[in-house]
Amino acid sequence: MPDVIVLGGGPAGISTALYTARAGLSTLILASGASALEKAGRIENYYGFAEPVSGRQLLVNGAAQAGRLGVRILREEAVGLTFDGEFAVTTEKGAYRAPFAVLATGASRKAPQIPGLAEFEGKGISYCAVCDGFFYRKKPVAVLGAGDYALHEAAELLPIASSVTILTDGRKPEVEFPKEMEVCTGKIKELSGGEMLRSIRFEDGSERETSGLFVAVGIAGSADLARKVGAEVRGVTVVVDENRRTNVPGLYAAGDCTGGLLQISKAVCDGAIVGTNVAKEFRGRKKS
Ligand SMILES: Cc1cc2nc3c(=O)[nH]c(=O)nc-3n(C[C@H](O)[C@H](O)[C@H](O)COP(=O)(O)OP(=O)(O)OC[C@H]3O[C@@H](n4cnc5c(N)ncnc54)[C@H](O)[C@@H]3O)c2cc1C
Repeated sequence: MPDVIVLGGGPAGISTALYTARAGLSTLILASGASALEKAGRIENYYGFAEPVSGRQLLVNGAAQAGRLGVRILREEAVGLTFDGEFAVTTEKGAYRAPFAVLATGASRKAPQIPGLAEFEGKGISYCAVCDGFFYRKKPVAVLGAGDYALHEAAELLPIASSVTILTDGRKPEVEFPKEMEVCTGKIKELSGGEMLRSIRFEDGSERETSGLFVAVGIAGSADLARKVGAEVRGVTVVVDENRRTNVPGLYAAGDCTGGLLQISKAVCDGAIVGTNVAKEFRGRKKS
């Protein structure tokens, strides 16, 4: 079992791992999907490069640097997170446990632009199956998404709800969903209801009744994962104190997912703060 699992292999995650590994903690990074840095072709404002450097090059260098220090990096997507005194991270391939976890998955992508989505938030729209699934016992629910994260959320709901429908909103399913889940690939026109969400209207004119819609588009962001263990979030950012601790013991967050300045220097600084604090807390727990 690693001492710490870092979710994200961008500058915040790698910087965290450099500090924890050099402090002697066995460190596992799980990283899947793009880092914001991959889109940055020419970086001129990061310390130490006389000539512009590409984001891709920084990522390659960072991973090699962490690898040299003994950090294990697995290209796997975190889809679930639980806490029972230790953290258990589920990916599309396996499950990993550690006493410390660090959220560093970057800034969240835009929410899907579906008319009614914002209006029914908390009134039938949810972003966390494990948090809200119970409210939909024996009721029909739908999951919006087409990949591993949608599959994970749908699997959480299957034993609770009367039915689970996958809504891909015009996308091709990226994974095989079990036959108990109906997959509907129609493009969504709008969500409707009264006090609460009641139905989903499609562009082809058809309509489907539902009591709940769980949003699981793309891959899970830090705020999605934080919610699953009861960590405080504000919109799409994870709330942390000056030591980058969340309100859940042993759970930290670093980089763009905590908001503020969305720059490499801040992500690297966050990682350094998290790494040193995790190492300090780890040693403190060992002594007591
Ligand atoms: C076009 C563009 C240009 C930019 N130019 C500059 C610049 O010139 N200078 C500058 O300082 N900053 C620049 N930035 C900002 C900079 O890229 C970010 O601030 C920085 O990358 C944030 O680091 P991070 O580690 O927090 O997140 P990211 O770099 O986004 O890394 C997130 C990591 O999390 C992983 N991940 C996400 N979800 C999951 C999951 N569910 N499971 C496992 N892994 C997951 C991803 O694979 C990735 O490894 C630019 C950004 C963009 C988009």
